[in-house]
Amino acid sequence: MIINADLHIHSRYSGATSDKMNIKTISLEAPRKGIEVMATGDCLHSSWMKEIKTCNIIDDGTFEMNGTRFILSTEVEDKRRVHHLLYFPSFSAVEEFKEKIKSKSKNLETDGRPNVDMGGEEIASLARDVDALVGPAHAFTPWTAMYAYHTSLGDCYGDLADYVSFVELGLSADSDYGDTIQELHRLTFLTNSDCHSPHPVRLAREFNRFEVKDATFDEIKKAILRIEGNKPILNAGLPPQEGKYNESACISCYTHYTLEDAIRRRWKCSCGKRIKKGVRDRIGEMATFKEPRHPDHRPPYIHLIPLAEIITKAIGQHTPFTQTVAKRWEELISAFGSEINVLIDTDINEITKVTAPAISEAIQAFRENRVIIIPGGGGKYGTIELPEERGILTLSLGPKDKQTSLFDY
Ligand SMILES: [Zn+2]
Ligand SMILES: [Zn+2]
Repeated sequence: MIINADLHIHSRYSGATSDKMNIKTISLEAPRKGIEVMATGDCLHSSWMKEIKTCNIIDDGTFEMNGTRFILSTEVEDKRRVHHLLYFPSFSAVEEFKEKIKSKSKNLETDGRPNVDMGGEEIASLARDVDALVGPAHAFTPWTAMYAYHTSLGDCYGDLADYVSFVELGLSADSDYGDTIQELHRLTFLTNSDCHSPHPVRLAREFNRFEVKDATFDEIKKAILRIEGNKPILNAGLPPQEGKYNESACISCYTHYTLEDAIRRRWKCSCGKRIKKGVRDRIGEMATFKEPRHPDHRPPYIHLIPLAEIITKAIGQHTPFTQTVAKRWEELISAFGSEINVLIDTDINEITKVTAPAISEAIQAFRENRVIIIPGGGGKYGTIELPEERGILTLSLGPKDKQTSLFDY
């Protein structure tokens, strides 16, 4: 069977997360995005674990609520500020791991994503002891990521580098970026949302599609390890330019710089604040090859733009977090079942029957790769613009009454 899975989220017990990040809401929102399996995130946190335990038990490592399956996961920050993702086979594996790191963490019970006073090698070794999968989270971002502080997998994980089976690409990178680095060729690429809110613009904005025999931890583990016929068959995610750290840019005024300019300016913006190295430039430095070379096992990568963002632009709203956008999004989801269906699978003529012409035209533009992306950087997400010749971009600049007139169709 084929499943879609988002394997990195944070609960309301992590910093700066929505209080709507509870198991029930996540279980109800996931299928609307088209997702069958979610990773719980934050599973070392006792209160979150209590909530996970309200799910139905499918097997030792798989839980279910409202038809959505969950597997046990967490992210930890190591002593060099590198983030690691872990996937556990059972509650007892989580408990055992927790016991071992207890003395190395001060915020295990207060932050869903704890800091641990250990390096990558030690974390990977403890993960191996309990049969958990481990790998770097959002590996290329300029803060809190493996390649921000290390030059290689071996530099981060030492003798345990061979035990690492996956790398999470993060929102600002895709397979083309990752596969310019030779040491990553043997790893499975994961594309996850890392969301802090269940809003459809965030949840499952990136996901993995796996070929498995069942939607369980064991089967997903085999897919990540690519054994017994299980495997990833698609990575789906934002165009890298949409990520917050795609280009090198100032963390205060968000002025973008080329790598050469940033170096010449000694990473100091004209406003006086720091320029943060973008993922694109970091990968440029790390790359073994000028052009990506994909290993045979690498599945295709499809670039997705959240439907709510497409709607936002199409109807001239300023953010996707408005009632108007929500109403338009709901209308499409109730007609076609899930966001993935609307974005990719449903005949555009069917979509036209249900929604405003500006929205179906925008979906069409997305499908034909005609959406213009203005790259993110310095901590600010990239933005999208619709092709102007359709005459819809201009509406986003118009006065309020002009916007509402869009609905008189
Ligand atoms: Zn992280
Ligand atoms: Zn600046």
